[in-house]
Amino acid sequence: MSHFDLLVVGGGSGGVRAARIATSHGARVALIEEYRLGGTCVIRGCVPKKLMVYASRFAQEFEEAAGFGWTVESARFDWAILKGRRDAEVARLEGVYRSNLVDAGVHIFEGRARLTGPNAITIAATDGSKQSLSGTHILIATGAIPTGADATFGHELSINSNGFFELPNLPRRVVVQGAGYIALELACVLRGLGSQVDVVVRGDQILRGFDADVRQHLAAEMRLGGIEFHFGRTIKSIARADTALRAELDNGLQLDADCVLRALGRKPNTTGLGLEAVGITLDAQGAIPVDRFSQTSVASIYAVGDVTNRVNLTPMAIREGHAFADTVFGGTARAVDHALVPSAVFTTPEAGVVGLTEQQALEQYPRLDVYRSVFRPMKATLSGHPGKVLLKLLVDRDTDRIVGFHGVGPDTGEMAQLVAVALGLRATKRAFDATLAVHPTAAEELVTMRTPAVRHNL
Ligand code: NDP
Repeated sequence: MSHFDLLVVGGGSGGVRAARIATSHGARVALIEEYRLGGTCVIRGCVPKKLMVYASRFAQEFEEAAGFGWTVESARFDWAILKGRRDAEVARLEGVYRSNLVDAGVHIFEGRARLTGPNAITIAATDGSKQSLSGTHILIATGAIPTGADATFGHELSINSNGFFELPNLPRRVVVQGAGYIALELACVLRGLGSQVDVVVRGDQILRGFDADVRQHLAAEMRLGGIEFHFGRTIKSIARADTALRAELDNGLQLDADCVLRALGRKPNTTGLGLEAVGITLDAQGAIPVDRFSQTSVASIYAVGDVTNRVNLTPMAIREGHAFADTVFGGTARAVDHALVPSAVFTTPEAGVVGLTEQQALEQYPRLDVYRSVFRPMKATLSGHPGKVLLKLLVDRDTDRIVGFHGVGPDTGEMAQLVAVALGLRATKRAFDATLAVHPTAAEELVTMRTPAVRHNL
């Protein structure tokens, strides 16, 4: 049996980073992956999704171009070309991941790993052969998978986000269920590319957990973009109807569609890993419990990324993987801070956020000032596009510190990244006010908002 200092189970964002950093600290590392290197983010998540977001936004660009004197004649979209080019880019990136690992000296094993002890795994390869490895440490970085089958009649006729990336054609009519990141992003992609899109939401608003203004503003903007929402509804059944599908909602409404896409959340990917046998008990959500150094209840076993269900975002998995390797092999104990996480929802328009929502902020900072600006972007003055941008800053009046930023509109994801730096430095509203505007931009609103829209507990 080969022995390694570290066995990494899972070749996604967290596992790959941990493996590379551990080798840089001198560890002998094996990485086991059963599917494709790069994980969900690279293979069937963030990266191919963002490429499709770009593709989908040309439609609006073509429309707006007319207001600037352009005539765009007979624009046509070809799904096969986009899919081919997107898949080729994903394959290229997968190759880069592989060569980076190989160049770093990581030993890559293809197959499915199962823990057989606190320091041992077996690998079942696709050709049926088995192999055992031992490791001083084991890192589980197996990510998450779409929540599976449920009681909805005919659910097997629907697809999830994995299926979305395999669609051979652009579906003409789509029913999307869910109102989280994935449902909304894919709904906007499909709408932009030309599909008719109905979104079925069980609650009364999209994006639970986000700031109320963001939720309301984004839903209105998506409606302007031609998406139809069915709030307070679930899908009762999905059935075949002639050449298409028919989704029946709980109010009896029947929606005919070529594709029913359900994005109802993701769950930690732990099935068949053998965790119980080594003494790891999963939490109520099925995640691996870890301490702030990503160590499980078994001293030699660590876990990072979505499988731990802390903050389920690629950059966090990367950071956790890096911190783990520094802690265990680099001689520097590093815990990851899970506060102040910036993120973007790549809908059209997109949303960018960092810090507390207004509701969360009020619990900690009751003397809260809310600065809010809703405006037509300059481009719309000639293009006539009816969409508006929302920018919002939350300020603790006692310290003048900005504790939340929320934006909906073009490039607000990019804004969130930069505002996150400022918030990390504990920036005050005074510091924003003292910053010279970059004119003409949308972001200049962030440094020119003078009067609070709401002053809580004045
Ligand atoms: P989310 O947890 O964000 O959303 C799940 C959605 O499904 C919610 O709207 C939820 O409704 C709804 N839902 C859950 N169960 C049911 C049900 N039985 N019937 C009807 N509706 C249901 O999950 P996603 O799948 O969208 O995304 C998973 C994770 O992936 C996210 O947490 C995010 O961290 C990550 N991600 C991040 C992206 C980014 O950073 N841009 C992009 C894509 C994914 P309700 O609100 O009522 O519970």
